[in-house]
Amino acid sequence: MVRAVVLTDVPPASLVDLAADDLPDGDVTIDVRWSSLNYKDGLAVTGAGRIARKLPMTCGADLAGTVAASENPAVRVGAEVLVTGWGLSETRPGGYTQRQRVPASMVTARPEGLSLRQTMAIGTAGLTSMLCVTALEGAGLRPGAGPVLVTGASGGVGSLAVALLASLGYEVTASTGSPDAHPLLRELGAAEIIDRAELAAPGRPLGKERWAAAIDTVGSQTLASVLASIRYGGAVAACGLAGGNDLPATVLPFILRGVSLLGIDSVMCPPDLRDAAWSRLASDLPVSLLDRVTQVEPLSDIVKLGEQILAGEISGRVVVDVQ
Ligand code: NDP
Repeated sequence: MVRAVVLTDVPPASLVDLAADDLPDGDVTIDVRWSSLNYKDGLAVTGAGRIARKLPMTCGADLAGTVAASENPAVRVGAEVLVTGWGLSETRPGGYTQRQRVPASMVTARPEGLSLRQTMAIGTAGLTSMLCVTALEGAGLRPGAGPVLVTGASGGVGSLAVALLASLGYEVTASTGSPDAHPLLRELGAAEIIDRAELAAPGRPLGKERWAAAIDTVGSQTLASVLASIRYGGAVAACGLAGGNDLPATVLPFILRGVSLLGIDSVMCPPDLRDAAWSRLASDLPVSLLDRVTQVEPLSDIVKLGEQILAGEISGRVVVDVQ
């Protein structure tokens, strides 16, 4: 038997024993050692959001562990691997279990320089923050261009985005609604911290040009306010909806300031982009800062942790110990 957190049609999810050979299709079987907690996992385990497309569903968008069996020569038994996104916990059973099976095409080799536990400290959140940075660089952003804003800065995506941008030499402004997180955000490298209330109220369609670029994890009015305050020719990487999935904006920043809005998805992100992002995470994200924002929690506490992440009560990243 293996322990797993499973959602049925009566939320929240609960810890159950599953038969060790009751596994989905796939050619790689993984003994899972660590998983992680993302905002989406909070929605899933509590039942607050409809993440699972079918029930019962093993929750957890991420997993990391050791290959126990493989029918694919590209993935050897004993290799340390991770899987993030690809519909885990949505369309196929996820990472909150001690054993999982996936197609080899979903498997990422543990990047050199990171432990399995550290890959889950990064997880979907960190991958997303690196995809945001890469997209902004693709739009021409370089250190020295001016301040780069990160919204939802104390969260998983936000805190790792602050750390990454600062370590790459960018001047980072962190927007947060969590005063308690200010010391941590400074430690991660934020040069300036603003209160998220500044961005929460509707303003003029074109405001003062404040930031060269932004990473937005909040959406809704926050994203609209950010777009209105980006400097001429700048870009915003939009990846989240912690404040809502609407966008009450005008086209003026796009057509009068040449601002670009870049959509970021980590779930179905293709393997070449993914591999490049993971190898940059291993080299560009200071491990000491990663450890600083990480807490390790047991699988048995996952529903409580899910409630906390939805309530905005968790700073940084949670690694889930599934053993
Ligand atoms: P977290 O809960 O860790 O972080 C979200 C942060 O947003 C909070 O810490 C808080 O930061 C801020 N926040 C929360 N509620 C509100 C609100 N009502 N209004 C304004 N700000 C708020 O979540 P994650 O970092 O895991 O995910 C962030 C977002 O990104 C989520 O919406 C998630 O679904 C999305 N996401 C998207 C991915 C993709 O592939 N596109 C992948 C991963 C995540 P503070 O207190 O500092 O303001």
